[in-house]
Amino acid sequence: MVARPGPVATRPLERTRLPDPEPGPGELLVRVEACAVCRTDLHLAEGDLPPRRPRTVPGHEVVGRVEALGPDAQGPPPGSRVGVAWLRSTCGVCRYCLRGAENLCPMSTYTGWDADGGYARRLTAPAAYVYPLPEDEPAEELAPLLCAGIIGYRALLRADLPPGGRLGIYGFGASAHLTAQIAIAEGATVHVMTRSAAARELARRLGAASAGGSADPPPEPLDAAILFAPVGDLVPVALEALDRGGTLAVAGIHLTDIPVLNYRRHLFQERTLRSVTANTRADGREFLRLAAEHRPRVTTTPYAFEEADRALSDLAADRVEGAAVLLMS
Ligand SMILES: [Zn+2]
Ligand SMILES: [Zn+2]
Repeated sequence: MVARPGPVATRPLERTRLPDPEPGPGELLVRVEACAVCRTDLHLAEGDLPPRRPRTVPGHEVVGRVEALGPDAQGPPPGSRVGVAWLRSTCGVCRYCLRGAENLCPMSTYTGWDADGGYARRLTAPAAYVYPLPEDEPAEELAPLLCAGIIGYRALLRADLPPGGRLGIYGFGASAHLTAQIAIAEGATVHVMTRSAAARELARRLGAASAGGSADPPPEPLDAAILFAPVGDLVPVALEALDRGGTLAVAGIHLTDIPVLNYRRHLFQERTLRSVTANTRADGREFLRLAAEHRPRVTTTPYAFEEADRALSDLAADRVEGAAVLLMS
C-alpha cells in the first residue's frame, strides 16, 4: 500500500498483511496472478496524484482468476480468468454516461486509487467492469494490455490518425510500445521520439520507421502525434512537428506545466491539442479484440511481488524495458 506518498527514494510503499477482501454486492473476488506497474502508480506513490483514501493498495493492470462472487454479482464463474483495469465504476445515469462517454463520469472510481488494487494477493472488482481474458496467454504478457494497452489505444483514437497516416510517438514506455504496434499493424507509419537509447532500439525492432531523441524533429511532418512522456515541455515540440490539420493527444493523467505557446508556430493551420481521460469499457473491449488479432509483442520486465518498490524506482529512472510486471508467487 502507499503509506506516505513521497519520492520513490523514500520508499512510499509499505508491505503489510491485510484481511482478505470481501466482495460486496455486484463484485467479484479475484486472486491475482500478475499486476503490471503503470506510471500512474508512480504518480500515486510520489503524491503527484493526491490520494483519494489513505493507505490504498495500488495496481490497476491485474490478471487474475475469479475466486468468489459477491451478492447479486452477474459475472464469470469462479475459476474464470479476468482482467481488472483502471476504470472501476461509473454512475451510469449522468449526461456523460448516457452519451457513451463514461470515461468523463464525475462519479467514476478507479482501481488502486478509490479502492485497493492489484499489488496484493487478492482484490475485489465490480463484475460489470472486468474483462474476460484468454486462458492460454502468459499472465505477464496480458497484464500490460489492461492499462498501458487500453489507454494507449484511447490516445490513438483521440489523435485522429487518418488511415495510412504518419504518427509521431513521444516517449516509448509500456503504453507507447503497444500503441505503436497496433498503429503499424493498421497501416500507419510511426516515428518515435524518446530520450532512452534502449527504447529507440526497441522502437526500431518493433517496426518504427524512425527513432530519434525526445525533442528531435521527425523526418517528415506528422498527421497525428501522441505525447506519452509526462513532460509539458514536449507539447510545443510535438505541435511544431504536426502537419497542417494534425492532432496532438496527451496520453498521461499527469503532465508537467506546458510552456507558453505561440499561436502561429504551434496552433495555426488548424492543429489541435487534446487530452485523454481514462477510457470507456468499449475502448477496452475494442483494444483487447485488436490485440488478439494483431498479437503485439509485449515486452516486459518481471519482478517478484515483494519487489514492487524496486519496480517503481526502476520505472522512475527509465530502467524498465517495456512494462514492469509484478508476478505473484
Ligand atoms: Zn456517470
Ligand atoms: Zn495505468
